[in-house]
Amino acid sequence: MTKAYKHLETKLIHAGEPTPFIGGAVSMPIFQSSTFEYTGQTSYHDLKYIRLNNTPNHIALHEKLASLENAGAALVTASGMAAISTTLLTVLSSGDHLLAQDCLYGGTHDFITKDFPTFGISFDFIHGDDPDSWKRKLRSNTKAIYVETMTNPLLQVADLKAVVEFAKTHGLVSLIDNTFASPINFRPPEWGFDLSLHSCTKYLNGHTDIVGGAIIGRADLIQSIRHKLNHLGGSLDPHACFLLHRGMKTLAVRVKYQNESALEIATFLEGHEAIEKVNYPGLESHTQHQRARDLFDGFSGMVSFELKSGIEAAERFIQNTTLPAIAPSLGGVETLITRPATTSHSGLSPKDRQRLGISDSLIRLSVGIESTEDLIEDFEQAFNV
Ligand code: PLP
Repeated sequence: MTKAYKHLETKLIHAGEPTPFIGGAVSMPIFQSSTFEYTGQTSYHDLKYIRLNNTPNHIALHEKLASLENAGAALVTASGMAAISTTLLTVLSSGDHLLAQDCLYGGTHDFITKDFPTFGISFDFIHGDDPDSWKRKLRSNTKAIYVETMTNPLLQVADLKAVVEFAKTHGLVSLIDNTFASPINFRPPEWGFDLSLHSCTKYLNGHTDIVGGAIIGRADLIQSIRHKLNHLGGSLDPHACFLLHRGMKTLAVRVKYQNESALEIATFLEGHEAIEKVNYPGLESHTQHQRARDLFDGFSGMVSFELKSGIEAAERFIQNTTLPAIAPSLGGVETLITRPATTSHSGLSPKDRQRLGISDSLIRLSVGIESTEDLIEDFEQAFNV
């Protein structure tokens, strides 16, 4: 059992670390062994084997992640989508029904709309801001409710307290994708969510060099999800475990800097004459700014915005920038810029994107850890070319 540490910054460095150090190594070694000696285990799930998610590299990460969000347990997976799909397929079976927020990461939206029917699972989308309407979509077979902390790419903040209350009242499992906030800005189990899901590919690893996922929350649910993951096989390999473990140690310093930098950049963009609208929960103009202030310790490094003059101007602006890499994904140390309609949300039909307010000219920025002043100068020149 890991020692209890008070602050996140300390947990990132010390929680889950082996004591005493293995062979005196201050940094967690990589256990690149698919199998381990049999020591009398009586359950299949307890055999030491990489796919069974129980090597020393997995165990250290599970303890660190659970400690970060003050949860009962955690589990790492081969990608964020492995975390999401394995969780949904554990919590829901054929004949069950899910309530899901209408504006979701494109991969999750695709999984729910295209794959659920093949498993005999039904769903309804709900508007995160309108709790009164959720009851009308509730059915006797509804088993879970699924939301994102800040939606991708519009940075909307649902009524998260109402989600937890609704789930408790109606006996539903509450699930939240906390990727955009990271545990630095929001810790869902502290607010009563049953399970918090992450694409560790983003902030948790932070260095754009692995894909990985995590599920953090109630120990009984994590145990069932681990057994399902053992069967489906979406385990994180030990080398990726090591990179994630190393990346996480700097999570607090990275994300706090990114919070500050993104707020400055969002404020600059909002004041620029070429800009129509900026979506950032840290801005007072954001519709759910007060709610975000109540819930979050910071507003993330994610900003999305619209230029006044449409797709061609948006594309020109992107091409004119020199510091950001033009690429999907987010949460790393490098600033990334993309048009979600062509990348993360290209799986949605144009009609669905339009209904959700994701225009073809919307630009999404993942602010890295470069100098804020250099980034703002780069954006200024990109408007002017
Ligand atoms: N959740 C969110 C909010 C994401 O943005 C992404 C990927 O962009 C995922 C989940 C999926 O993560 P992965 O690419 O690690 O499977």
